[in-house]
Amino acid sequence: MRGLVVIDYTNDFVASDGALTTGQPGQAIEEAIVKITAEFVQNQDFVVMAVDRHDLHDNFHPENKLFPPHNLVNTPGRELYGALNNYYREHVEQIYWVDKRHYSAFCGTDLDVRLRERRITELHLVGVCTDICVLHTAVDAYNLGYDIVIHEDGVASFDAQGHEWALRHFKNTLGAQVI
Ligand code: ZN
Repeated sequence: MRGLVVIDYTNDFVASDGALTTGQPGQAIEEAIVKITAEFVQNQDFVVMAVDRHDLHDNFHPENKLFPPHNLVNTPGRELYGALNNYYREHVEQIYWVDKRHYSAFCGTDLDVRLRERRITELHLVGVCTDICVLHTAVDAYNLGYDIVIHEDGVASFDAQGHEWALRHFKNTLGAQVI
């Protein structure tokens, strides 16, 4: 069985005025992300939106020292970006939403349990940033024994070198298929 995790494709990470935006590279994958998501939904595969969830007064969060506030609860910045938001609203019952607090979609969430219940062994990843949240999710998936598939046209980063490095890392170190 296969599942798809769409990572952090929100206004704050993608829109031009997003708090921590990937900008043009992130916006360029909008169509591909919707296409891949729709393909999995139509096939009745398990589809997950894994989305950063931050609180303004979370004084102990390690990201506080690294990044400006982003994906704050109840702000437009935490809503899915563009056409993906429209698609999600129309298919909300077929898509599982995971709030995450750290980079990895597995960290402190029930994602692994949800996947195992469904006997999913092949995990497909898309979203942003290739070299941060997608990378950390892929590393956890590797450690948990999943077969990993990265959709190259469905991942992006603000950091072109980091993006390229991560694509090599998925393939050469995590044994992922990069398609
Ligand atoms: Zn964050």
